[in-house]
Amino acid sequence: MRRAGRLVVAVAIVLAAVGAGCAAPRTPREASPAAPGGETTGRSAPAPVKPLAEWERRPIRTIVIDPGHGGRDPGATGLGGLVEKEITLDLARRVRGRLAHWGFHAVMTRDDDETVDLAERTARADAAHGDLFLSLHVNSAPRATASGIETYYLDESDERHSDDVAARENGVAPEQAGDLQRTLAQMRVSEVSSRSELLARQVHGAVVRGLRARYGATEDLGVRKGPFYVLFLSSMPAVLVEVGFASNPRDAERLRDDAYLELLADRLASGLTAYAIASNSVMASETR
Ligand SMILES: [Zn+2]
Repeated sequence: MRRAGRLVVAVAIVLAAVGAGCAAPRTPREASPAAPGGETTGRSAPAPVKPLAEWERRPIRTIVIDPGHGGRDPGATGLGGLVEKEITLDLARRVRGRLAHWGFHAVMTRDDDETVDLAERTARADAAHGDLFLSLHVNSAPRATASGIETYYLDESDERHSDDVAARENGVAPEQAGDLQRTLAQMRVSEVSSRSELLARQVHGAVVRGLRARYGATEDLGVRKGPFYVLFLSSMPAVLVEVGFASNPRDAERLRDDAYLELLADRLASGLTAYAIASNSVMASETR
């Protein structure tokens, strides 16, 4: 009974997605022009459908900042007593301050030295109706010479991600998620992933350019696809920034410096804002 119910919902969602622009064959009645906003004008009213992703249909207003680690999990520890969970919380609060100042609603997945597991982080982001998700981390490497900034976004080509999204959305184990649910999840993961890549490039570029302008040499380790749990559980465009290496003397010294953290926060917030403004203006022009 519950399985059948889920299947009906899944079919309704896929049909809604097809109506929203995919080039799948449609019956003549369904092919009649859809009203703006996606309502169909056919005689038989479609069943109420859940939007493919809520954040796709509203302007970006709420930005979730996720300070990596916390509580029992210190994350990377480094030179001069640097502890990743402390740096990420400090930096997240600074980013929140800037975003709030620029008119965004900024929410944090933790605002204390609290143990928060990864599923809970994404649950908090969803509960806050986040439109964008920024996870902050400090890198560490066996080689002390490794340094610089790298930014990750969801790797949509990894099937596990889609299966996990499918399982989460449908409340079943990944191996039980049917083909239909998997197709649905892949459509969603693919859309979130491409937007996340754009977001990653904006944020990464703003950070690297800003740091180089003020501090000179800053290693650009690039924008990469990564298999991070918080990224593939996220239902909104999400990026994870590794803001330096705890294991590198120069990075560690910078990460303990107030002026450096201020600049880093300013650049992170500026990259997020640039993406949000561009995305909101595209949405406004489409609905005009
Ligand atoms: Zn970390």
